[in-house]
Amino acid sequence: MNILTPNSPTAELQALDAAHHMHPFTHGAALREKGARIITRAEGVWLNDSDGNRILDAMAGLWCVNVGYGREELAEAAARQMRELPFYNTFFQTSHVPAINLAARLAELAPDDLNHVFFANSGSEANDTNLRMVRAYWHVKGQPERTHIIARWNGYHGSGVGSGSMGGMKSIHSQGGLPIPGIHHIDQPHWYLEGGQMTPEEFGLARAQQLEEKILEIGADKVAAFIAEPLQGAGGVIVPPATYWPEIQRIVDKYGILLIADEVITGFGRTGQWFGCQTMDVRPDIMTVAKGLSSGYQPIGASIVSDEVARVIDGVEFNHGYTYSGHPVACAVALENLRLLDEEGIVDRARTHVAPYLKQRFESLADHPLVGEVKIIGLMGSLALTPDKPSRASFAAEAGTAGLITRERCFANNLIMRHVYDRMIISPPLVISHEEIDTLVERARLSLDEAHAELIQRGLM
Ligand code: PMP
Repeated sequence: MNILTPNSPTAELQALDAAHHMHPFTHGAALREKGARIITRAEGVWLNDSDGNRILDAMAGLWCVNVGYGREELAEAAARQMRELPFYNTFFQTSHVPAINLAARLAELAPDDLNHVFFANSGSEANDTNLRMVRAYWHVKGQPERTHIIARWNGYHGSGVGSGSMGGMKSIHSQGGLPIPGIHHIDQPHWYLEGGQMTPEEFGLARAQQLEEKILEIGADKVAAFIAEPLQGAGGVIVPPATYWPEIQRIVDKYGILLIADEVITGFGRTGQWFGCQTMDVRPDIMTVAKGLSSGYQPIGASIVSDEVARVIDGVEFNHGYTYSGHPVACAVALENLRLLDEEGIVDRARTHVAPYLKQRFESLADHPLVGEVKIIGLMGSLALTPDKPSRASFAAEAGTAGLITRERCFANNLIMRHVYDRMIISPPLVISHEEIDTLVERARLSLDEAHAELIQRGLM
């Protein structure tokens, strides 16, 4: 077989891709017709494609390349570890140095008594661990009927059977008969789309109180845990009203229900603090992490667990784990990544230097005729597209049409932004410079202008 390289012709790469590669979250036939964009190299916040374009990656890959692309130190950490010990497992009473160091470092970084780490290879896997762990926890504690999990519509926790069930994406549920039994969903705190005439504060409170209603409907002694992202990422970078999390915390405390904060996106500086629960001032019993843990340089995820949960789970043999739980190469890379985030002051600079400038520049897009709302926390931001600003109206066309048009315009202007229905999203590497932020916002405005003109021309607004 002819092995292709980053310098092979785009058409050849696309043809072989189309022939054999099934892409996640992609309409295969449509992609085959169009041909995939082939990314070949990257440095800092910049991607190169096989046609020689230089693209500003305002999504940090999939919200994960927190330290930026091209860090030699991470490549070195991987190579060193591969030479020393490329693999050993952590089953059956064995361990190794990278897993030991990384678990201890995560315990140090995580808030409060979140001192114990169960490794996985992704956010989906870590959330599957959480689902099993909270059920096991209550079982060991002598309350085996506490199995029900409450989650949120339009939350995202992964695409495995357990994680996809806890997520609230109907597009995922509709393929393969999810959710599995015992998973319940309440509405999301998405004021812009669903808040109607309520103030954001009233709405935040009302949405949080749905948790109490759901607990009482199921029976308080049957609920194991509530899982949520501190702020929703894949659902559209939805920042909850200020009243939301304090009320959620009150309710989980009142009923003694475990709180799982899914920090897969919000961890490791994304919101300006090390973890989103610190930004939102909530106290989880378990945190899910992945993505920024290794800045995406290696696949790794983890559940970071409180003293109490670990104490109970340690009382039995927890029949769970993955061949690559705590993979030494992934752990070594993650540990080095955490060193860079800390010692180079990347997280601190993100909070004090990058986020304030990004906020100011990104919020300047609020005057655009297509933009109904701008939301940003740390380095996660979103724009709501609307045909009518005062009423927060949605487009008459199928939801997502305007977002897709805008996303395609961004692509054409060498800017990667993502759309969730008609919301445009950014989540750039934490190391983005002020000059690069200016470029991001200029390209976003140009793309919005072009999308606006196209929407008018097509009679969609
Ligand atoms: N949880 C959240 C909050 C996520 O954003 C994601 C991925 N976008 C996941 C879990 C799943 O992680 P993975 O794709 O690594 O399985």
